[in-house]
Amino acid sequence: MKLVEFFEYFIIDLDGVVYIGSKPISGVSETICRLREMGKRVLFLTNDPRSSSKDYAKKLSDIDIPTAPEEVITSSTAVAYYLKEYHRPYGKTAYVVGTRALKEEIESIGVRIIQGEDAKKADFVIIGGHPEFNYEEMKIATLAVRNGALFIGTNRDPYFPTPEGLIPATGAILASIEVASGKRAITVGKPEPIMFELAKKKLNPKRGEKIAIIGDTLQTDILGGKRARIGTILVLSGSATEKEVIRSKVKPDYIIRELSDILKEQRKHHA
Ligand SMILES: [Mg+2]
Repeated sequence: MKLVEFFEYFIIDLDGVVYIGSKPISGVSETICRLREMGKRVLFLTNDPRSSSKDYAKKLSDIDIPTAPEEVITSSTAVAYYLKEYHRPYGKTAYVVGTRALKEEIESIGVRIIQGEDAKKADFVIIGGHPEFNYEEMKIATLAVRNGALFIGTNRDPYFPTPEGLIPATGAILASIEVASGKRAITVGKPEPIMFELAKKKLNPKRGEKIAIIGDTLQTDILGGKRARIGTILVLSGSATEKEVIRSKVKPDYIIRELSDILKEQRKHHA
């Protein structure tokens, strides 16, 4: 059997599965094209809150994977969805630590973004990693959380890989505000259920149709997929290694070398 035959829908992680940095992994464009020809639906999912769905759609289209913004879910999209579904955000205020892309997502659901003195009384504090993070942001976020703001982080990834090595990501910034405020943030990115809930809603599978996540990280993609009760496929083209899988309690349903292997004959991984 080929893995592709077991599922109707694929949720595909970006970094480590489709590309590493700006370099596409071999065969991805042809594989995704083939999946679509077979009538499979594909959704891209990333914990990285720095760019918008539109930016990712363009980045994918540029490497010959034609993609619409609606086919990409980022952890910023997931924060907007979470607020809209569970916290009646319209007309409320937020202090946002993050990029322009994150702020636009929050504004798109009718939340007013505030700064400085006012921000210490914001209804929501929303944290997404960005390279200009500074002490003033840490301070205002901490005070607002201590004043009772709902405290949300896009994700908890501690670092991300770059040519320089592993550099601090949202989780590291979030941790500083958690330490200072004495409160733990709600996070929506993988492995938390919110992002998967949004993905399932978008795919809207009929009874009996199956979804799988394809990811390169055990603690986010695979753990999140398990919690969401969907199929889990680990690729070894990114962060996880075979050794790590042997040691880990989180076991994927299937392991493949890289994305294009879902079109090849497989044997089931026995955990
Ligand atoms: Mg990844």
